[in-house]
Amino acid sequence: MGYDLLIAIPPHRGADVVISSGIGGEEGWIPTDRHTLKIKGHDDAYAIGDTTDIPISKSGVVAHLEAITTAESIASQIHGTGKVYLYNGRINCPLEMGDRKAVFVSGTYTRQPERQNPSTIKYLMKRFFNRLYWTMLSGALEPVFNIYLGPPYDVRDGERRRWQRLVK
Ligand SMILES: Cc1cc2nc3c(=O)[nH]c(=O)nc-3n(C[C@H](O)[C@H](O)[C@H](O)COP(=O)(O)OP(=O)(O)OC[C@H]3O[C@@H](n4cnc5c(N)ncnc54)[C@H](O)[C@@H]3O)c2cc1C
Repeated sequence: MGYDLLIAIPPHRGADVVISSGIGGEEGWIPTDRHTLKIKGHDDAYAIGDTTDIPISKSGVVAHLEAITTAESIASQIHGTGKVYLYNGRINCPLEMGDRKAVFVSGTYTRQPERQNPSTIKYLMKRFFNRLYWTMLSGALEPVFNIYLGPPYDVRDGERRRWQRLVK
């Protein structure tokens, strides 16, 4: 078949190691609670990134924000703070629209991305972000993103209260 431009997306499937481990289903996605990010049926194991079966974009930013949430959860367990960190499905991504214009897409499980007009300022910001790529990956700019987009997780401290009630 002839074509001028082929844009093809192969069928998505999980990693062989997940399929052979028996943790995932036939397609290789790990059954994961979309808020706690714990592997379903396991209270002490987490899954993040492309390998989960969470209905959300398979993207670097999701893997990054899930990693932050999971790190907070594990640290909380180690320090016994009783806080539970629940990923809220935040995504954020600059999108170039051509003609030196861009939009910033962001949303959560409960907040759909809003329609917006492409702008040159957002294009320039996106170009600037490219220069800060490695700084962003380290999480150093996360507080700035959190001011504008909200943190990638909700925090509950219910477990400690429940535990204190039991002790009393
Ligand atoms: C062309 C392309 C462009 C993209 N552009 C963007 C973008 O602009 N923005 C964005 O946010 N996301 C983008 N993504 C998506 C992003 O790259 C992924 O979502 C992200 O890398 C997922 O991270 P991960 O750690 O979950 O998985 P991966 O990055 O795939 O890491 C999994 C690692 O596990 C290793 N591995 C597999 N099996 C084994 C084994 N048996 N033992 C040991 N190691 C193993 C693999 O080699 C790999 O290094 C893009 C993806 C592609 C393909």
